[in-house]
Amino acid sequence: MSVVAHPRWSGELQLSRLEALYELLASLTQAEALEDVYEAAIKSLLATTSAKRASILTFDDDGVIRFKAWHDLSERYRQAVTGHTPWQRGARGAEPILVSDVLKDESLSAYRGLFTSEGIRALVFIPLALDSGVLGKFMLYYSEPHECPADELQIAQAIAAHVAIATERKRVEIERMRTEARLQAVIDNSPAVIFVKDHAGRYLLVNRRCEELFQTSQRAMLGHTDDEIFPAEVAKRFRENDQLALSAGKPLAVEELAPQEDGLHSYISLKFPLEEHGKTIGVCGIATDITEQKRLEAANRHLAAIVESSHDAIIAEDLDGLITSWNGGAERLYGYSAQEAIGEPVSFLAASERLNEMHEILAKVRAGERVQHYETKRRRKDGTVIDVSISVSPIRDASGEIVGASTIARDITDQKQAQAKHAQLLVREQEARKTAELLNRVGPALASLLDLEKLVQEVTDIATALVGAEFGAFFHNVVNDKGESYMLYSLSGVSREAFAGFPMPRNTCVFGPTFRGEGVMRSDDITKDSRYGKNPPYNGMPKGHLPVRSYLATPVMSRNGEVLGGLFFGHSQAGRFTEIHESLIAGVAAQAGIAMDNARLFQQTKWAEIEMRRSNEELRLVNQDLESFAYSASHDLQEPLRTVSLCAQMLERNIANELNSEDANFLTTIVTASDRMTNLIEDLLAYTRATKYPEGPPPTVDARAVLETTLQALQGRIQETAATFDVGLLPAVAVHEARLSQLFQNLIGNALKYRGQEPPHICVSAAERDGWTVFSISDNGIGIDKEFSEQIFEIFKRLHSREEYEGSGVGLAICRRIVEQYGGRIWLEKSAPGQGSEFCIALPSKRTLN
Ligand code: ADP
Repeated sequence: MSVVAHPRWSGELQLSRLEALYELLASLTQAEALEDVYEAAIKSLLATTSAKRASILTFDDDGVIRFKAWHDLSERYRQAVTGHTPWQRGARGAEPILVSDVLKDESLSAYRGLFTSEGIRALVFIPLALDSGVLGKFMLYYSEPHECPADELQIAQAIAAHVAIATERKRVEIERMRTEARLQAVIDNSPAVIFVKDHAGRYLLVNRRCEELFQTSQRAMLGHTDDEIFPAEVAKRFRENDQLALSAGKPLAVEELAPQEDGLHSYISLKFPLEEHGKTIGVCGIATDITEQKRLEAANRHLAAIVESSHDAIIAEDLDGLITSWNGGAERLYGYSAQEAIGEPVSFLAASERLNEMHEILAKVRAGERVQHYETKRRRKDGTVIDVSISVSPIRDASGEIVGASTIARDITDQKQAQAKHAQLLVREQEARKTAELLNRVGPALASLLDLEKLVQEVTDIATALVGAEFGAFFHNVVNDKGESYMLYSLSGVSREAFAGFPMPRNTCVFGPTFRGEGVMRSDDITKDSRYGKNPPYNGMPKGHLPVRSYLATPVMSRNGEVLGGLFFGHSQAGRFTEIHESLIAGVAAQAGIAMDNARLFQQTKWAEIEMRRSNEELRLVNQDLESFAYSASHDLQEPLRTVSLCAQMLERNIANELNSEDANFLTTIVTASDRMTNLIEDLLAYTRATKYPEGPPPTVDARAVLETTLQALQGRIQETAATFDVGLLPAVAVHEARLSQLFQNLIGNALKYRGQEPPHICVSAAERDGWTVFSISDNGIGIDKEFSEQIFEIFKRLHSREEYEGSGVGLAICRRIVEQYGGRIWLEKSAPGQGSEFCIALPSKRTLN
């Protein structure tokens, strides 16, 4: 390679080269982009040199030299030589290289094929260089071997010098623009409002955030002042703060309010004087919206105030269990101040028996669990232990990691006490209910039980349940129907075997008062009672006796004060029986006493009834004997009496005229006496017959028909006395006809016999009354004194002498016997001397009347 100087400069060539150079300079000044610079350079090279082809290559940022502009070069060629350069980037002192014939240059032998196919025979390398070293290169290509003349090289170098400067200037300019664009992007994309104002307050720069917030455009703001954009009051504040920053000569942070669509927003604005070339050109502001932050702060403060004023204790602790915050509620609940508590392990609040649970709760919280409404105990500063309900939740940091626990504790001591009281009341209520039920059972159960054995067992069972004893016993005295007294016992809550081996309780210091009826005896612990263990042989409970500590006993007394027995209750624990049990048991004992009295009375009544039945039977048998005696006596008497009467009549007939008047009287007396005797015996027989119930069930008879037959039989006396009758409707009755006839005959016979001055007037009627047929037979006769109304029904009872009215006093007695045999009754309804009489007969009604 060698540099060949141009032999001489022709004037014309010189001129056209100057023109081209001038044009290049003009293009370079106008060039907007680097490409324009390169294009101008190629154009200029082709115009000023003899080369028909040219290219320009520069180093990129990665250090590789690449084609930037070219003329008439194939793609293949460009690719093949890209990156090839005789100079490194930044190399200094680079000189042009002229290759007059590529085929002869050994250093390029590797590219010969390439050159040949591209039609290149000669090359010129011209470095593009500044003070900073090589930037790139110009290439001139010749299709024939070419010795580059010096003037051609000079002009090419001159072009290279200009292009290098222009390229660098353009690059710097591009770099500056790029930096500015980046800055603008940063400013525009900043969440903060950024602006620059000149001394007069006119906006020189505003970022996009500013446009967004104030819903305006850069153009609408630039060149305008705050007064033109914002309300006067806001603008005034802005201007004041701008002035402050300017006069301070250093950055100033101020809080400002700016109106936005959704109201006033708070900003923290950093304002500072903006200098350019050592001169203040205005004020720059960077304002950050702190509205949300302020809202959060306010919310936090509000929350903190709530926490602080909460009645509940709110505590935060870290994962090691150390207290990190402590509110007023905690101070009030536990008695420690925040200062005392913060930093302490939360376990210092645990009641000693609950230490472990703190670790367990913390382990749950670490695992992200919540513990809610957990009831536990805590120790206050003053040492008292309180009931609290706690809820523990994990505290997470912004990334969601658990960093601690918050505990809300509420004092539930009062609630617990109330619950306990409630439970106690419930138990008491249940007890009272049970007692009431048992007491309700006592009265009716005892009152209805007449079987003494069952009664005693029921009393023992109820009383044992009432006092809540483990076992109860009722020892009571019994008197049998022979009047012998002995002691029995019933048990409850324990088997009979448990007592079988022991003797009956004796009149010891402990049992004595009960058996003497000295009232209820109660002991919380009988083994500690002064009366206990005083009596040999056991001096206390015999071996094998059920253990008794609590003891309750009461006598059961009869109404007349007699001790009927004693109720005894035992419990193996001390202090089981109370005053309430005492009064309950006294009540039961009183009821038991009455019930036992009743049962005994019932027993006695039963015995009396048996006795009465026995004597009634005896009486019936005696009566039967008596009646059969009377019957047979009167029957047997008839025969000798008839003989006496006959003989007397014979004597009277045969010798009456021969007798003196006194003897004749005797004889007459014998005759009348024997007649009377005959009548008496007949009546007596009639009476005894009346006691014999006729054979078979009574038929239904028509009372009216029976009456008429009876009147027929009495016809003679009726006519004799001129008696009149008034007979009402008479029903059918279930009586044997002969008996009914006997009744009518006796009663109407008496009405005719005991008549007054007037002829007899006799009324017969009947009425139905409450299931009875009541016959009434009344007359207008002499009447009967009221005081004899019962007596007249007794046998042989008469109110008159035989001289006045004959009769034997058996008629009404027979009537009563007959009526009673049919289950009926006869009585004197009304009568008074001289006022007539009314007799009534009631017989069970015969429903089937005809
Ligand atoms: P008796 O007529 O044979 O005396 P009763 O037994 O028939 O016996 O009567 C008892 C007594 O009752 C009579 O003696 C008479 O005094 C009195 N008595 C009975 N019926 C009447 C009557 N209808 N009016 C007045 N007194 C009567």
